[in-house]
Amino acid sequence: MSNEKKWRANIRSVVPYVPGEQPEDQDVIKLNTNENPYPPAPGVRKMLEQVDDLRRYPDPAASKLVHAIADYKGLKDSQVFVGVGSDDVLAMAFMTFFNSEKPILFPDITYSFYDVWADLLKIPYRTMDLDEDFQIRPADYYGENGGVIFPNPNAPTGLLMPLESITDILDHNQDVIVIVDEAYIDFGGLSALSLLDRYENLVVVQTFSKSRSMAGMRIGYAMASEELIRAINDVKYSFNSYTMNQPSILLGAASVADDAYFKETTGRIIKTREWFKKELTRLGFVFPDSRANFVFARHETVPAAEIFEAAKKNKIYLRYFNKPRINDYLRITIGTEEEMRALTDFLDSYLGIS
Ligand SMILES: *Cc1c(COP(=O)(O)O)cnc(C)c1O
Repeated sequence: MSNEKKWRANIRSVVPYVPGEQPEDQDVIKLNTNENPYPPAPGVRKMLEQVDDLRRYPDPAASKLVHAIADYKGLKDSQVFVGVGSDDVLAMAFMTFFNSEKPILFPDITYSFYDVWADLLKIPYRTMDLDEDFQIRPADYYGENGGVIFPNPNAPTGLLMPLESITDILDHNQDVIVIVDEAYIDFGGLSALSLLDRYENLVVVQTFSKSRSMAGMRIGYAMASEELIRAINDVKYSFNSYTMNQPSILLGAASVADDAYFKETTGRIIKTREWFKKELTRLGFVFPDSRANFVFARHETVPAAEIFEAAKKNKIYLRYFNKPRINDYLRITIGTEEEMRALTDFLDSYLGIS
């Protein structure tokens, strides 16, 4: 008894989020983590060569980046909060806005970081089942709660909710903060940003990781009323003043400056996605109609786990979640046209189609 390490009782024990595999081998077709296959805007690389003041602390308010985003979105600078990827922004938002005794609500099938943060921060939560077509039912979110969060489009389903459904959820949740996680909104969805004027309890979160090809830089941001942005900044400054490093402030602003490139590359991904959907149907897959840079697909006869392993042996990485309700599905990131053709060629021969 006396030998027992009593300090162990004081160590936080959590079940962490498991990120997708990042193989060392550069020679793989990597369609497992929803990265963008195209490089960032040319101005980003140019700016990288100019980053030299690493000796100094960065601007704690990341004003250049905040201003670039606010200007682009038609907001005041005081309505934008930036963080180290939207994961950091969302974790800060959970800390700032979800402090009720009542449970926060999110879908049962969704971004698998939400329950991890709720557990870590000791926030009570309840998950609401998607319907059999993987749709969010707004009425599930009418009841009393401590806050609401969902991605739009949802991940990993790729399904986009129309703005009317989001207004419906907001109308029934005037007493709590509602966070819309728009990690994939730039691939053809309508942002809830237009609702900010009407709902001062709305927080919209976006990221540079997917549509801006900058997952490695770690830039995410929240947009909301000045009051909510002030609150989240207070929490950030109580935790770490310098979350945004100097290169990410400058390179992020350079990315926002090139809108033509942004529209061209996201447009290309949308085009490839629509072509790939037709191929999937031909190959015997069924899938919700994705508006993201991935498709969540199930084969009518061949188990997902088998396709996942076979593709990996062929150096094609896909994402497989061994979880209830979705263990028949593969989440397939939209890469370049060439990468997607390599995948369909593999599937053709693996499934014995041609
Ligand atoms: C990828 C993703 C994020 C986090 O992305 P960051 O790289 O941290 O910006 C957040 N939410 C959803 C739903 C995602 O898919």
